[in-house]
Amino acid sequence: MQVLQTNEEVRRAVGVSHREGASIGLVPTMGYLHAGHMALVARARAECDRVAVSLFVNPTQFGPGEDLDRYPRDPDRDAALCREAGVDWLYTPSVSELYPHGPGTMVVPPAALTTSLCGAYRPGHFSGVATVVAKLFALWRPDRAYFGQKDFQQVVVIERLAEDLCFPLTVVQVPTTREPDGLAMSSRNVYLSAEERQIARTIPLALQAGWEAGQTPGATPAHVLLAARAVLAEAPQLSVQYLELVDPSTMAPAADLARPTVLALAAHLGRTRLIDNVSLAGPAPVPSPVS
Ligand code: AMP
Repeated sequence: MQVLQTNEEVRRAVGVSHREGASIGLVPTMGYLHAGHMALVARARAECDRVAVSLFVNPTQFGPGEDLDRYPRDPDRDAALCREAGVDWLYTPSVSELYPHGPGTMVVPPAALTTSLCGAYRPGHFSGVATVVAKLFALWRPDRAYFGQKDFQQVVVIERLAEDLCFPLTVVQVPTTREPDGLAMSSRNVYLSAEERQIARTIPLALQAGWEAGQTPGATPAHVLLAARAVLAEAPQLSVQYLELVDPSTMAPAADLARPTVLALAAHLGRTRLIDNVSLAGPAPVPSPVS
């Protein structure tokens, strides 16, 4: 595995790879890798000749007062995990390498996709994400780029970005990897105290209740939301920012369950902000206990 830090090194590696006719899979991350990230890497490894993983805590997607300064980092462990997983290139640029003139030119995704859900609480966040991802796409020119459904609004924004800015690549969505009790894996889970970790289980349980309500014949969005809210009410320590059932192609509230819908939520637990979601058309979020 080669560790690349400069854009010049990336251009050289990509040039050689293209001349060899090798396909490139890109997995953008902010590091502190866990099994969720590694599921994206495994998928890229299976589908592409060369795999690049980027580790970059992108300052433009953090708002004032958010956790940019304390975001967890462990680059040595990340490198070991990537090496083990057969990654070809680990790209670890500095902030000045990717933003030589500060924030500079920014990519603004359509408001229709970014004013609801996380976008309503993190103004500018998706513009920061779209900007750094556009830079990564321009540098790496990947054939396929891998994103997790855990951040489902993000992956929808990226799909639109690729289409609107004519990047010739496929955006691949990878299902959410969960802990055995259903909690979605996240680098931010490390912030949770032991007690908070127990309470955090309520999030997938609430999604599970909503998912189950949605499977009932004749169910409406109101039934789904009510079922999820009832579970969340059992954990008053969770300060819910939003709980919404939306059409994933438009982010608009779902009018009925005839089309695919996603039940999404964000909540604070102490100082930690957690997000999760489940597609009502997909599998249940909490694995059934093994008997
Ligand atoms: P992050 O490092 O948090 O920016 O995440 C990098 C990529 O990994 C994003 O595409 C995330 O959606 C994805 N990801 C993070 N957590 C998970 C998870 N639990 N399951 C699947 N993908 C994930």
